Amino acid sequence: MARLDPHSYTESSQPLAKHVALTLYFDFAARTIHGSALLTLPAAHTGPLLLDTRSLLIHSVLDPRTTAPIPFSFPSDPTPDPVLGQPLCLSLSAQSAALVVFSTSPSSSALQWLSPAQTASKAQPFVYTQCQSIHARSLFPCQDTPAARLVFSARLNLPHPLTAVMAAARAAAPRDPVPGEAGSACPDALWCAAGRSVEEFIMDRPIPPYLFAFAAGDIAARDVGLRTRVHAEGGAALLDAAAREFAGAEEMIRAGEALFGPYEWGRFDLLVLPPSFPYGGMENPMMVFLTPTVIKGDASGAQVVAHELAHSWTGNLITNKTNEHFWLNEGFTTYAERRIVEVVQGEETAALNMGIGWRGLNDEMDRFKDNMEFTKLKPNLEGIDPDEIYSQVPYEKGFQFLWRIERQVGRPTFDVFLKKYIAKFKFQSIDTETFLEFLKANLPGIENQIDLKQWVEGTGIPPDAMEPLSSIYSKIVSLSNEFKLGNIPKKQEVANWSGQEWELYIENLPKSVEPSQIAALDAHYRLSESRDYEVKVAFLQLAISSGCKEYFGEVERTLKQVGRMKYLRPLYTALVQGNAEEAKLSARRIFAETRDTYHPIAQGVVESILAKHS
Ligand SMILES: [Zn+2]
Repeated sequence: MARLDPHSYTESSQPLAKHVALTLYFDFAARTIHGSALLTLPAAHTGPLLLDTRSLLIHSVLDPRTTAPIPFSFPSDPTPDPVLGQPLCLSLSAQSAALVVFSTSPSSSALQWLSPAQTASKAQPFVYTQCQSIHARSLFPCQDTPAARLVFSARLNLPHPLTAVMAAARAAAPRDPVPGEAGSACPDALWCAAGRSVEEFIMDRPIPPYLFAFAAGDIAARDVGLRTRVHAEGGAALLDAAAREFAGAEEMIRAGEALFGPYEWGRFDLLVLPPSFPYGGMENPMMVFLTPTVIKGDASGAQVVAHELAHSWTGNLITNKTNEHFWLNEGFTTYAERRIVEVVQGEETAALNMGIGWRGLNDEMDRFKDNMEFTKLKPNLEGIDPDEIYSQVPYEKGFQFLWRIERQVGRPTFDVFLKKYIAKFKFQSIDTETFLEFLKANLPGIENQIDLKQWVEGTGIPPDAMEPLSSIYSKIVSLSNEFKLGNIPKKQEVANWSGQEWELYIENLPKSVEPSQIAALDAHYRLSESRDYEVKVAFLQLAISSGCKEYFGEVERTLKQVGRMKYLRPLYTALVQGNAEEAKLSARRIFAETRDTYHPIAQGVVESILAKHS
């Protein structure tokens, strides 16, 4: 017996399910889904089959052919592992399929249920999923490791007038429920009650479980390109703004195809979620999920879209086998994102993104200075919650590694290598060793030119990593240095700056400066009121770290408006890490008042920040 993945109970000696058919009945009042998961194995299996679950109620397990019960147990009963959850062990005898009947619970971490008041339209409730890294198991029992790719079909039963979207293809138009079709998932009296409708979806390309995704609510849509439709809850104004912001999607897809090969997923739709969405974007296949904070009115949100699009090749096509190899997803995607940005927005913008990334990577070295394991590209994550150590390291150190190889072999050679790599491993989940073998086989001698072991297994930033220099980057860094001498940038020096220039400028300032300088900078440029959250949060973080109490109000407003972890992390950390008791107390009060509006993943992250500084 050996586990495939430190974050899953999946056993390497047991078969991996190839297909799951889900039947899901949504009970908004109880914040619960009653469902069944029909798991199909590649062949008949006799013996135990371990599935991951967390916060699920398992009602029964049946043989779908005979409806005879399949014996099951919970080997870790009664204490589920705080990170992994609870394994569910089925005892199969020459069976190739099992129907697990279950309910989610209000604490299922993949799901955020929003009351009408928490939505933009204020009219209807809303629910959406976020399964990365290991939350799919709180939605349905599965082998929740990216090593286990599977296809699925899903039948969702919702109350009028809500509609559903999925990271999958729509199989049929919404229709009335039919008696008997829910099987054991839910009684016909519920399934076929007045005011319910059924929507069906199918995903015929094998995906890792963390890419399973849906949302349901009062969702409207608008076409913005040949392959792209924007969906959003929140009315026509938001849809208009989103359609403008993402008008360049098709151009980006074509740039991606030219660089990395055919786009394999058919549609590239976008779903703009309510502000509590914990990430900037989530690369759910066929339908990327986005925070509304990327809609800034200046097309700069395109960078997040470029990133999620790039995952269509790196991550969704080629997936990391376990989270210890997460850099294969995010490092490659960060590299691919910047190549797409370079094509559609130019070298200067790409260089700015690289500069912001370089600053972020250096900050992570400071964050992990007492635990350098997490600065490795391939860390040991046994017993570690992936959400807790989520950082820029796999993104930016991974980017630096690939950029280092590109500089060594030259871009034309590296581009040929990339296309070949993607074509070779598409629809597979691989580890770092597989990548290194392929690298050495296709770029002979690379191991003599680059210290691959240091890059992959070493801590910190390798000496042959490179600060991304460009004229705009150098100019901003020198203006940041000027600030240390008391000089605020002049109006004409920042006349053409967008959010990214300001972000880089602020991030290059010292972590704490004279409060009078903060006030002077804000008096000139109103950064604390920026509509661009990237700028606003970078500024507020600096202001709080510098002890400027007059910004507490703005910090509180920000923490109550958005639930994106990129903003929650630095703001809560800035409040609690200093010695100011008042700041610590207000962090705790704000979290107590706002907790319920955050996604469960974000709640956990803020809790751990507060606990570390209690
Ligand atoms: Zn990503």
